[in-house]
Formats: sequence, structure tokens, C-alpha cells
Amino acid sequence: MMFFGTTNLDLCFNVERLPTPGESLMGALNRNPGGKGANQAVAAARLGLRPHFYTRLGDDDAGRSLSLSLRDAGVRADAIEVCPGEISGSALVLVGDDGSNMIVIDPGANLNVTPAMIDRAAEFIEHDAIVVAEMGMPIPALNRLFEMKRAKGFELIFNPAPVRAGLSSAAWRNVNFVTPNQTEAFELTGVEVHDFESAAHAAGKLLDLGPNAALITLGAQGAFYADAERAFALRAFPVKVVDTTAAGDAFNGGFAASLAQRLPLREAVKRALAVAALCVTRRGAQSSMPTGEAVDEFLK
Ligand code: ATP
Repeated sequence: MMFFGTTNLDLCFNVERLPTPGESLMGALNRNPGGKGANQAVAAARLGLRPHFYTRLGDDDAGRSLSLSLRDAGVRADAIEVCPGEISGSALVLVGDDGSNMIVIDPGANLNVTPAMIDRAAEFIEHDAIVVAEMGMPIPALNRLFEMKRAKGFELIFNPAPVRAGLSSAAWRNVNFVTPNQTEAFELTGVEVHDFESAAHAAGKLLDLGPNAALITLGAQGAFYADAERAFALRAFPVKVVDTTAAGDAFNGGFAASLAQRLPLREAVKRALAVAALCVTRRGAQSSMPTGEAVDEFLK
């Protein structure tokens, strides 16, 4: 399997409350590896897969530590590009004691992925592979990746986050599973998703864009699946929530890993819900991704 997407160094400041313009506050800093693509690849690696990952890093200290943490998690780094003269993506995250946050992202090297780079990275895609892409990469690069689906013969999971315009209709038609959260489903369809009924409505509109299937996550409610033949909703596992950071990434990594392990569809969605449920019981992004054994134990 192979993931395509962004990697960032998250500079997370815990502050009592968010600052007002012009104000200086004291806070506690944690540097955490992040970025949607990296989180998703790590989720799959923690589950025991050995995914390839394509991303671009700067030739800087952040890039070196991000690359190391990906390898440590079990992600195959052969396709990763380290780019001289560029800086690694980073995010400044302020989190108040009440859970409110402010985020500023400098995408750095993530912003410069070209279609030609995708052509080179695609050599790492094995036949019959599961490929996962998120929307943080430039749209022309995503179009190129999606358009090579038939020739390469892979199955494509597309996590449309953050939503942006410009994906070609040919690219949309090559998507097997589109996996938005409620906000992204709204941005793509104009349908507000607040329960399974409205999710069904949004899923219908998502299918009109061209993918084979829509799989919408609804936070603590669970997930809704629809394709041309069937539709079903699965409830989230009730857990004690500590930190929902990267819940969606855990879900996508878990779903992709389950498909790669050839689980039947409904089982794959259920296992993705379990991976995400365990993720929200722990603090952090990549550090909160559960192992395959922990998921097996949870599902017993
Ligand atoms: P995030 O932005 O926090 O990474 P997201 O908005 O992309 O997440 P959500 O739809 O909020 O994605 O959550 C993804 C999945 O995580 C849900 O489908 C569910 O399985 C799990 N999840 C999220 N919140 C909870 C919760 N409170 N309890 C149990 N599971 C949860």
C-alpha cells in the first residue's frame, strides 16, 4: 500500500487561553510530527502494514526528525523526497485549556509537488495496491495520481481534506472511496451532515461527483457508507475521549490497512471505527495511533 500526502512539524503550545491580538502569553511547547498524509501512513504502519509514503521534506532539522519518526513507526521511506533549499512544512498550534485552538500552517516543501514528481513516486505503487491520498498536495499532482489509477491497477481512497476546488472529473471517477468528515461533506455537496439521514443525502451527492463509494465520518456518531448498490451506517464505539486530534487520520489509515488485509467492506469500516476510537482515548496525533494487537483486543 502507498500513501501520498503532507508532513508537518507541529509546534504545539498549550496555553491557559488563546491570546488576543498584540498580547504575549506563556505556554508549554511540544514538538510533534504531524501532517495528514504522515499521520495516515503511521496509522497503517502501527497496525502492522509496511506502507510506502510519498511526501516532500525540507533539507533541515525538522525534515530529518520527521523522516526518522516515520521510519521508526514502520513507514517505508524510499519514496520520500528531501529537498535542498526548501523548508519542511510546519504548523503552529495553540491549544487553550478549554480545548479551543488556533492553527497557522506553513506548507513549505509540501506545496511544491509536481505531476512529474508523482510520476516518479508512482514507481513504488505495487500492482493491486491500496493507494491513499489526502487533499493537502497541489491539485495538479492529485489529478496526475488519480488519472494513473487504471494503468497501474490500484484501489484509491481519497480523503478530501482540506477541501479545495480543481480536481478533474476524470480524477473523481477514478476514486474508489471518498472519505470526508461532516464539514468536508458539506463543502463538497452543500448538504449539512448532522446525522445518518443527512449523511445519506450527502453521500448521494458525493457519488454524483464520480467516486464508486462515499464513506462519511460523523465524529462520535460513527460513519456512513454508500455505493450504487448498498448503504449502511455503523455507530462509533463509545469510549472516554481524551483528545480527538487525528481521529480522521486514524480512521483513514485503519480503513486502508483493513482493505489491504482483504477484510470484507463492512468489517473494514468497523475496524476503522475501532482504530479511530482508540486514537481518541490518547493524547497526540501519531503517538495516539493503536497497534493491530490493541485493536484486536478492543474488538474481542
Ligand atoms: P479530526 O479532524 O479530529 O482528525 P475528523 O473531523 O477528520 O477528525 P471525525 O468524523 O471527527 O473526523 O472522526 C473520525 C472518526 O473518529 C469517527 O468516524 C469515529 O470513528 C472516531 N471518533 C471521533 N470522535 C469520536 C468519539 N468522541 N468517540 C468515538 N469515536 C470517535
